[in-house]
Amino acid sequence: MAARSEHLHTAAAFCAFSLLFCAVSSFPLAPEGKRQTKCGYESCPVTKPGLLNVHLVPHTHDDVGWLKTVDQYFYGDRNDIQHAGVQYILDSVVDQLLKNPDRRFIYVETSFFFRWWKQQGEEMRNTVRMLVNQGRLEFVNGGWCMSDEAATHYSSVIDQMTLGLRFLNETFGECGRPRVAWHIDPFGHAREHASMFAQMGYDGLFFGRVDYQDRDQRQKSLDQELLWRASDSLTPPMADLFTGILPNGYNPPEGFCWDQSCDDAPIRDDPDLEDYNVDDVVQRFLAIAHAQANVYKTNHIIMTMGSDFQYENANLWYKNLDKLILYVNRRQSNGSNVNLLYSTPSCYLQELHRANQTWALKTDDFFPYADDAHDFWTGYFTSRPALKRYERFSNALLQTCNQLEVLGGPVSRNGPFGKGDTLTMRKSMAVAQHHDAVSGTSKQHVANDYARRLATGWNTCQVVVSNSLSALSGSAAPRVYCDLLNISVCSFTEASPEFTVTIFNPLGRPVLWPVRLPVNGTQYSVSGPDGNHVDSQVVPVSGSTHDVRRGRGFAVNELVFEVQAPPLGFSSYYVSQSQERTGTKTGPESRPKTGLTQGSLQIENKFLRATFDPDTGLLTGLMNLETKQKIDLTQNFYWYNASDGNSSDSNQPSGAYIFRPNSSTPFVISKTAKTQLIQTSVMQELRQVFSPWVSQVVRLYSGSRALELEWTIGPVPIDDDLGKEVITRLDTNIKSGGVFYTDSNGRELLRRRKDFRPTWDLKQSEPIAGNYYPINSRAFIMDEENQLTVVTDRSQGGSSIQNGSLEIMLHRRLLYDDVRGVAEPLNETSVLFPDGLVVRGSLLLSLDPPKSAADKHRPLGQETVLQPLLSFTKGKPEASAELTFSGLQAALPPAVHLLTLSQWDSDSVLLRLEHQFQSWESQSNSQPVTINLQKLFSTLTVLGFSELNLSANQWKEDMKRFDWTPKTEEKPVQKTFVDPSFWEVTLRPMEIRTFLLRVRL
Ligand SMILES: [Zn+2]
Repeated sequence: MAARSEHLHTAAAFCAFSLLFCAVSSFPLAPEGKRQTKCGYESCPVTKPGLLNVHLVPHTHDDVGWLKTVDQYFYGDRNDIQHAGVQYILDSVVDQLLKNPDRRFIYVETSFFFRWWKQQGEEMRNTVRMLVNQGRLEFVNGGWCMSDEAATHYSSVIDQMTLGLRFLNETFGECGRPRVAWHIDPFGHAREHASMFAQMGYDGLFFGRVDYQDRDQRQKSLDQELLWRASDSLTPPMADLFTGILPNGYNPPEGFCWDQSCDDAPIRDDPDLEDYNVDDVVQRFLAIAHAQANVYKTNHIIMTMGSDFQYENANLWYKNLDKLILYVNRRQSNGSNVNLLYSTPSCYLQELHRANQTWALKTDDFFPYADDAHDFWTGYFTSRPALKRYERFSNALLQTCNQLEVLGGPVSRNGPFGKGDTLTMRKSMAVAQHHDAVSGTSKQHVANDYARRLATGWNTCQVVVSNSLSALSGSAAPRVYCDLLNISVCSFTEASPEFTVTIFNPLGRPVLWPVRLPVNGTQYSVSGPDGNHVDSQVVPVSGSTHDVRRGRGFAVNELVFEVQAPPLGFSSYYVSQSQERTGTKTGPESRPKTGLTQGSLQIENKFLRATFDPDTGLLTGLMNLETKQKIDLTQNFYWYNASDGNSSDSNQPSGAYIFRPNSSTPFVISKTAKTQLIQTSVMQELRQVFSPWVSQVVRLYSGSRALELEWTIGPVPIDDDLGKEVITRLDTNIKSGGVFYTDSNGRELLRRRKDFRPTWDLKQSEPIAGNYYPINSRAFIMDEENQLTVVTDRSQGGSSIQNGSLEIMLHRRLLYDDVRGVAEPLNETSVLFPDGLVVRGSLLLSLDPPKSAADKHRPLGQETVLQPLLSFTKGKPEASAELTFSGLQAALPPAVHLLTLSQWDSDSVLLRLEHQFQSWESQSNSQPVTINLQKLFSTLTVLGFSELNLSANQWKEDMKRFDWTPKTEEKPVQKTFVDPSFWEVTLRPMEIRTFLLRVRL
């Protein structure tokens, strides 16, 4: 990114605040690498137009944790688990690249490269800079990791890409900017990922895994390379991305693996020695090359010469590749039309672009992924549900931490509570996006390591939050955080007769939020920031909460009240225990109140009514009291029996990746639930116990427009030796006709139809698993009148198997490994839960007319992702303390989401504003909306700004991507929209705009 007049970034200014990488990089944003700089497309090898050009791409695939932790992989520790050491790979590759200027290598995972670079001396760094500047070492993808595509939220993907690409930018300048996205291993591909990559400026995407039936058909129609239109709302070609499916996953062709981890024969080219094999090798290679060329369109083909953690001894690979190129190309003099060359994915892409072909246009996604008839990789959509929730919750903490670092100013990083930073959490979250991390497909000890990193990140972030809140409120009172409020554990509130709770709201709009605090008293009084009394109630802690606490908390009651927090700001509430008067009615009517006198059981507020069957205790209906619409709705819990691999049609068991139920009919856990009704002025809830390991609270707070289903599941019993995939199913009278909708990475919704794929003929072989899709943040079913939307609190898998029905997989406990490498059954236990993990979460249900449903579920989804952060101080707030604060001059319009606000360097912050509606989903909100950047913040003065690409590693005006022609229509022409004035920026449906603001606090 070249420096511009508006922002001249220097390392000096950057490092003064030690915000990011300056400890390892002391280079200006654009290093003086101009000398012999010929990187990127300009450094590509020469090809031969009339021949079949085979682009050999030496590469290594380095998982950011999987069978070993990320640090174990870096050092090559625990080689007893898997032989893999990334530091040696980079050492060895650099050494080998220097031996022959034709050789090329690509590197992908910046978290590893960063670790390695930090340990290199100046001489080695200069050597590596030279290799990068000459295009011999090329970064592709370049994020901190190669993210999972099913279970990741777009906000965290953008963050992890930004982190990795920023390091490359600051270390290598323009020659370090990757041109190609490289997602060779993720298990299915999300449309939103392609959309993000396009907006990050990538010219193309390559991946390895695609459904086997899809691949077969694409091979026949020569459509393994295509143009992916990844948004139905953004104007083409904004979200158009050229996409290539690699020929052999990401492995070399059969028989041509020359890594130390492979057994293929080396090229034995001395005729005087035994076993001369050059002719045989060349023959075999030519056969493979011709076969591959038959299923691709152009006279260029790509071969991935490498695999997992290969090139630790790069000499083996390069020595043989040098010979392969020599001997195959030598045949050209005898009429062979095959030309081999060292290449990179971007050089291959450039040749495809030059070929000037038309490409199939794809508008759906690549989920679910199956590699055989009974092998659907749809289990990992839910695997490790507790880690998936912790990761999602940690994102809220990180965004809050980033925002408060900006709002509190420099004192946030070094203030009354010590030194804190946001970088630790950014890195922890970035690592957690890896395709074996949040996906739930790592070994148990590695999953523990991901969680530990998040906890460490949170510890350093807490200092930033405390310092910042102290500066903004004017009170330096020590602050306490309670991480276990979901199971009613907080020793501070349990023991304190009076305290102040501060609610920080990271959203750009005010929020009404229910607070539940574990307490031991029976009566409390709560007052808001204006001193006014706030309605509160004390209710007993539920039995299942008692069960899951396992000695970590002893509160008998919960204090419940609703709070309001201003946009990008906080409000403080004072809580004090009241004297209990005897003889008068205190507290809520918390005795099991049946309501049976009316022959019905129900909970309601002014927006919704949920009814239950008094005999079974199950839900029977949901009514929207504002619109007067009503549906029949029953809900229950079931489990599929996970296949153990012993069946007549396939020996594939269910495992961390794969979902394979033994039967299409799930077992009901219980046909009835024992219930307890609690009705108070603040909330009403029906507590349901289905079995010793399944319970639920169905809840309505007085101000909520969504019905909460808070489920608690576990320990999933396995004493019957049966693996279990636990689902909840909502059965309604909505006429959904086999159609349902699921979101892509928390953004756009995609239409799903049972037993159907939009771009190819599906032969369905798994009636349940083959219909599962990732539900990242929401799913819905609808007919003309009613739309039932479910907002989830983490990524899960789900489907609609029957009309009117929606099922979501909540927990899995399995007894067999599914033979995809992890080599452990997904059977989660822990020190506190040796008998199996207990997991709690919630689903939020809303019922609306389809044409206005998005107006509810879009904000609801953001509130769930970016939930407020609670912190506590002792006693009454100091008289001088500010009890309410907003960082914005006014709430953002409903269509606009504040996606990113984080410190960039000493005098600038990164801002991302997002239009959160699709173009078709809302009459009132699917319209362009304009924001004035100068009038945005209340305490930050914006002096100037520049616009960046989505990953903040290129100025928007410099972003020029390859254009491609779809088969079926004209080449889309890049449209430029003009903003109304200098300070006013317009967002169109689903658009995210990224700005670097120069600010003064
Ligand atoms: Zn991988």
